[in-house]
Amino acid sequence: MTILHADMQWQPVMAAVQQAKQIHIVAHVCPDADTIGSQLALYHALKAMGKCVFMHNQDIAPYICRYLPGVDDITHGDVPTDIAADLVIAVDAGSLGRLGMDSAYFEGKMLMNIDHHASNTRYGDINLVDARYCATGAMIYDLLQYLNVPLDASSAAAIYAAVLTDTASFRLASVNADVHRMTADLIDAGADVGLASQSIYQSHKPARFELLKDALDSLEVRHEGRSAWLSIERVSYERTGLCGEDSEGFIDYARSIEGVEIAVFIREEKAQQWKVSFRGKAPCDVGIVAGKLGGGGHQYAAGCTMHGTLSEVRENINDILVDTLD
Ligand code: AMP
Ligand code: MN
Ligand code: MN
Repeated sequence: MTILHADMQWQPVMAAVQQAKQIHIVAHVCPDADTIGSQLALYHALKAMGKCVFMHNQDIAPYICRYLPGVDDITHGDVPTDIAADLVIAVDAGSLGRLGMDSAYFEGKMLMNIDHHASNTRYGDINLVDARYCATGAMIYDLLQYLNVPLDASSAAAIYAAVLTDTASFRLASVNADVHRMTADLIDAGADVGLASQSIYQSHKPARFELLKDALDSLEVRHEGRSAWLSIERVSYERTGLCGEDSEGFIDYARSIEGVEIAVFIREEKAQQWKVSFRGKAPCDVGIVAGKLGGGGHQYAAGCTMHGTLSEVRENINDILVDTLD
C-alpha cells in the first residue's frame, strides 16, 4: 500500500474517531462521486472498526453512484430531529454552506472537515484540508491506513469512483505516479474497473443527448479562442424531463477545444438562478475565477451560483474572464 502524503496531521482525526459514540458522515449538496465515494469508503471503514455510524445528506446521490455498495444506506433531505451524533465528518465540502444544513445542527457536536479544496474555509473543529490530494477519496485512502482498517472491496470501489471522476478519468495534472500506485491497490482490493466505467460513463439516458444538442447549439468561443461557453435554460430540462445531473460532463466538450483555456457552463436551476461551472487548463486558475463570483473550487474545476437573466450572468462572468485572460 502507498501513503500519498505522510506529512499529514491524522492524529486529531484518529483521536476524535476513537472517542466518538455516534458518527454522522455528510457529503456536499448536489453530490458528486468524490463526495459520495469518500462518504461510503469512510462509512465501511468505521463500521469495520465497530463504530456506530450513519450517512445523511441534503441531496440524493447521483445515478452514476448507484452501483456503489452501501449507497442505499444514505438518507437525504432535512436532517431528522431524532438523531444524536456527537461527531459529524464532512467530506469534500469547501465551506459549511456546501453541506446545505442549518448551522444549528452542528451546535454541541464536534465537526470534522476532510477536504482537498484550496479554497476551504476551515470551518471544522478539526480540519484536515490539503489541496495536494487529487480527490477527497484519496485522503480517505490514506486515512484508512492510519486507522489500520483493511481496504475492503466496498471501500476500494468507492475510492476508485471518487478518484476516477475528480481526475477527469486520470487526465488532470493532479495525477502522478503515486495516484496510479494507489489505483493499483484499489484494483487489487476489488475495485471493478469495468463496472465503474459502465456505471459512470455508459449509463446515460437517451434523452441526455437531446439536452446535449441544446447545449452544443449554445456553444460560443470568445476571447480570441481562449474561452468556450455553453448554457442550458430550464425549458430544455423541462422538454427532456431531465435535471442538472443529466448534463454532468457537458463542459468537457468546451474544454476539449484547441486553444481554450477556460470553459464555462451555465445552467438554469430555477427562475433567474444559474449554476455556473468552470473548467480550466494550465496556467489559468478557475478556482480564483469562481471565488470572485462567490463560489469556489480548484485550479482546474470550480463553480458558483449566480442570479439574474442569462445575459446578465454571462456579462458578469465575462468581466472576470477579461481580467483573468489578460
Ligand atoms: P461542478 O462544476 O459542479 O462539477 O463543480 C466543480 C468544482 O467546483 C467542485 O469541486 C466543487 O466543489 C466546486 N464548486 C461548484 N459549485 C460551487 C459553489 N457554488 N461553491 C463552492 N464551490 C463550488
Ligand atoms: Mn465534490
Ligand atoms: Mn473533490
